[in-house]
Amino acid sequence: AKNMGGNKAIVFNEQLSKLDQERSKLESRLRKAIEQEKIEVYYQPKIDVSSGIIFGAEALVRWQDDDFGFISPEQFIPIAEETELIHPLWELVMKKACQQVKGWNIHRSEPLSISVNFSARQFQDPGNMVKQVKDILAESGLGYENFEIEITESILLTNSKEIVQALETLKGLGISISIDDFGTGYSSLSYLKNLPIDSLKIDKSFIQDINKDFGNAEISEVIINLARSLHLNVIAEGVEKEYQKDFLLSKNCVQMQGYLFSKPLNKNDFEQFLQNEG
Ligand code: C2E
Ligand code: CA
Ligand code: CA
Ligand code: CA
Repeated sequence: AKNMGGNKAIVFNEQLSKLDQERSKLESRLRKAIEQEKIEVYYQPKIDVSSGIIFGAEALVRWQDDDFGFISPEQFIPIAEETELIHPLWELVMKKACQQVKGWNIHRSEPLSISVNFSARQFQDPGNMVKQVKDILAESGLGYENFEIEITESILLTNSKEIVQALETLKGLGISISIDDFGTGYSSLSYLKNLPIDSLKIDKSFIQDINKDFGNAEISEVIINLARSLHLNVIAEGVEKEYQKDFLLSKNCVQMQGYLFSKPLNKNDFEQFLQNEG
């Protein structure tokens, strides 16, 4: 038995090192893709369902490797976050998205707002991040009022003075701050009154099973009412089905995002989608 345990340990170690190898291969591929700007940004429309107006889009990063094929952000964002790659990746997404949306807004009477996902690592050096945001927006010509950041509750857990200050500076410029995956994190609700937050995004896990698991509809409704009481904007993500939309409308949540309206689209397809607005 002792011997067998030893063999298992060896097999396990071999598998671990294989995983390690895969990971570092992915990391070096990702580094190269970022250097060569072979990273794309897709845009998922955010819709005001009461009017049919597309008021914004979420920027979602896409990476297609020549050998590995399409790699999901769920897979490579954590790798980017564990290395320093999350910084140039973020910068690339920021630049592409802001430039693109500025281009679209030139032709629109109602400008689109672009939402960019900020990882917690973006707040490592908050002062510098704020400066980068200012520079990138200035360079693209996009107005602060047409820019939103999506952060998760985990950032707020640290409760660092520097981070709060950075958020307040961004907010002061006119940038919106949205809490992504709201309701899935660990944070206490008290941050909602202390921090400069504009919007809550109901996590798709609540929306998906709204009629299956008991509690999801109730939680969604509580979030909608919480947002209303605190004068915050509320948006639902992951809306795939007509009954989910109807439920949200019945609770007066009109801002939605999800496959029912559109998947994330490349820039050409998004332009096409804008043509059919209304
Ligand atoms: P997220 O920010 O919560 O983004 C929503 C995810 O749900 C996206 O997956 C989107 O494609 C997907 N989605 C949208 N509508 C529906 C729907 O109706 N049903 C379902 N089942 N899914 C829907 P994606 O693009 O694979 O991104 C996954 C996660 O990766 C994101 O979750 C975000 O945490 C991260 N991510 C993506 N792009 C970036 C980025 O540029 N920077 C950072 N830091 N993270 C990013
Ligand atoms: Ca998001
Ligand atoms: Ca989300
Ligand atoms: Ca998520």
